[in-house]
Amino acid sequence: MSARYADLARRYGTPLYVYDLDRALAARRDLRASLPEGVTLYYSFKANPHPDIARALGSGPAHEACRAELTSTGELRSALAAGFRPEECLYGGPGKTSGEIEVALAAGVRRFSVESHEDLRRVGAAAVQRGLRAECLLRINSVAPKSSSSIRMTGTPSQFGFDSETLAPLLPSLLEVEGTRVVGAHFFPLSNAMDEASLVDEFQRSVAEAARLRDELGLPVRMLDLGGGFAAPYAVPGERTVYEKTSTELAAVLDLHFPGWAEGAPEVACESGRYLVGDCGALVASVVNIKQSGGRKFVVLDAGINTLGGMAGLGRLLPLAVEPVEGVDPADLEPVSLVGPLCTPGDVLSRNVHIPSPTEGDLVTIPNTGAYGLTASLLAFLGRPAPTEVVLRGGAVVSVSRLDTQRVYS
Ligand SMILES: *Cc1c(COP(=O)(O)O)cnc(C)c1O
Repeated sequence: MSARYADLARRYGTPLYVYDLDRALAARRDLRASLPEGVTLYYSFKANPHPDIARALGSGPAHEACRAELTSTGELRSALAAGFRPEECLYGGPGKTSGEIEVALAAGVRRFSVESHEDLRRVGAAAVQRGLRAECLLRINSVAPKSSSSIRMTGTPSQFGFDSETLAPLLPSLLEVEGTRVVGAHFFPLSNAMDEASLVDEFQRSVAEAARLRDELGLPVRMLDLGGGFAAPYAVPGERTVYEKTSTELAAVLDLHFPGWAEGAPEVACESGRYLVGDCGALVASVVNIKQSGGRKFVVLDAGINTLGGMAGLGRLLPLAVEPVEGVDPADLEPVSLVGPLCTPGDVLSRNVHIPSPTEGDLVTIPNTGAYGLTASLLAFLGRPAPTEVVLRGGAVVSVSRLDTQRVYS
């Protein structure tokens, strides 16, 4: 437990999320260094839509700043509040409603990633009403990718994107949808790649597939969004990977298939959530109770799956195995189950973790929880107040806030 966290917990109480903007900016620097110069980088708001974090990532000179990858009215509101211009936003998601699309167009968003013919028609219809033409990327679900990863988004039957093998007969009508202009392809085949080789392999496949769609079907490719897959540790100690070869390998495959890319034809983009913000955040919780059952020690925290990793149970995140301790003599550790305060046996942060003998009131810090923390959790379940979120920069507190869920009657 760093003295800093203990001090902040005293001041603001627990459970407490602490985000350090300097770390988010360091991650952005590392990710930029892993990508060829000139690649557009989108920040995926779903990882953490906190406006201060988003603002930091969107700041700086154009070759450093991130743009915003969004999928909802709420994320759009966060992005605009964080100072992103609407033309820097890419709006995606498989279930956009006409209402959401209208809100986005009214705010000035002009670029969408579309996941089906109907999705494209809906964007087009809303654009026509405003006398506009929206730029649309077709999200592609490529068949038969090879490398495995922790979280595969496409390559299997999926609600995401157009199956690449059935695109041929469909494409002519996609290019004709009034109110839209198809400007390229969007791939997002995997998240949290196992290793650099898998990441590079997916990029190579996506670039080759985009070139095939261009050459064989006549897909216009003025923009090529390759998605991401950049990995980060989640709720366990550890460091982000630094990718050594990706930049060179990606540039090489782009040179091969899209020789004009370095001059922006096509514009090439990547996306990241967890890599950019995973290690900027830590969750500080207090031990509220300790009990023994069946020979096992249960340490009850004031933070459970209502504050962290509620999605883990849905199988969409890594299985949660919180490991909160670094740099402690192993002889001082004992095995416990770390559980949250909710009335469900599912509220387990870790079934078996080794921590120094806990006592009531002790603080437990769960590192690397800046991505898929609070907003990926079961915030409303059992009605506890949301944790306070403190944002630091240069060691100083920038903001202190709390999300609120309350019923609004209409
Ligand atoms: C979730 C998502 C991302 C971000 O994924 P990370 O693993 O957090 O980097 C990027 N693009 C799309 C389309 C997504 O849905």
